Amino acid sequence: MAEPSGLCPPPGVGELVEVAQDVFWARIPLPGKLNHINIWLLREEDGYSVVDTGMQSLAAEAAWDSLLAALPEGMPIRRVFVTHLHPDHVGMAGWLMERGAEEFWMTRLEYLTCRVLLAQAHDETLPEDFAEFHRAVGWPGSAIESYHNHYRNYGRRISRLPRQYQCLEEGQYHVIGGHRWRIVTGNGHSPEHACLYSEDSKLLISGDQVLPGISSNVSVTPMEPTANPMADWLASLEKLKAEIPDDVLVLPAHQHCFTGLHKRIDALIYDQKCTTERLRVALDTGPRRVIDLFSVLFGRDIPQDNFMIFNLATGEALACLNYLRESGEVCYEIDAHGTRWYRLR
Ligand SMILES: [Zn+2]
Repeated sequence: MAEPSGLCPPPGVGELVEVAQDVFWARIPLPGKLNHINIWLLREEDGYSVVDTGMQSLAAEAAWDSLLAALPEGMPIRRVFVTHLHPDHVGMAGWLMERGAEEFWMTRLEYLTCRVLLAQAHDETLPEDFAEFHRAVGWPGSAIESYHNHYRNYGRRISRLPRQYQCLEEGQYHVIGGHRWRIVTGNGHSPEHACLYSEDSKLLISGDQVLPGISSNVSVTPMEPTANPMADWLASLEKLKAEIPDDVLVLPAHQHCFTGLHKRIDALIYDQKCTTERLRVALDTGPRRVIDLFSVLFGRDIPQDNFMIFNLATGEALACLNYLRESGEVCYEIDAHGTRWYRLR
């Protein structure tokens, strides 16, 4: 992914960049186009808190080994905060706890959903209702088989999720080093995503809730097929805009630090409105399956051979359709194969 220019130059692997007093930016490598996750180290008197951890891999372990060696005076990581359950955020939390971190914090819905997904990864066979869900969106049998392997892979990207956690909650305050951080939750990208906002230092650690150059994936999953996460996502953006002033420096989980939070939120909401309108126009020309809508929604075909992207695109296309279903604009018919064909009412 091209790196747009930010306010601070990004750190290299194993490096720390101080973005505000006692707040350090580091990166843990990720495979594929995403390339990295940003993590944020908050210096305290006797150690560090870290927000997000990276995805389990040998490269992530090597990056963490370099970072731990680079921390001044060998000070340890004491507290681990995780914004949400995706493996690039929670994947190395267990590894850090095994290396002496004392506290592991996550919101309840993120932690419990993570435990459910990890348990599901041990299923011997794909549940029939999950296969039915994927026939409904129009997947061929080969994609359904790939999904089985894919969901078992979730656990392989997470290093031993700690069996105990401490609960992050909306409105909770944490004093970390010299700063006071408020937890601001949102959903749509994940069940109960936590941002950390420091009013005194004008910083927002935004996780995947607001990213500078890409929009976060918003997906319907087989576990909750009639969910409307797009409405949740848009409401969470409005909430952030209402609660967080525009003059913060935003520290996102991917890409670069940025200012102009409100403008970025407005752009994300506007882009989604345009996407929804393109969907209406496409459905006006005749019934479509979920997988027929990728080029309309994302501006390109998404082949099945890049399965992770194909799966995310399917989930997001369904999120856009469920959004219009809930507002009563769209309905579907089911054909003999169990596949849904969506149309405007
Ligand atoms: Zn995420």
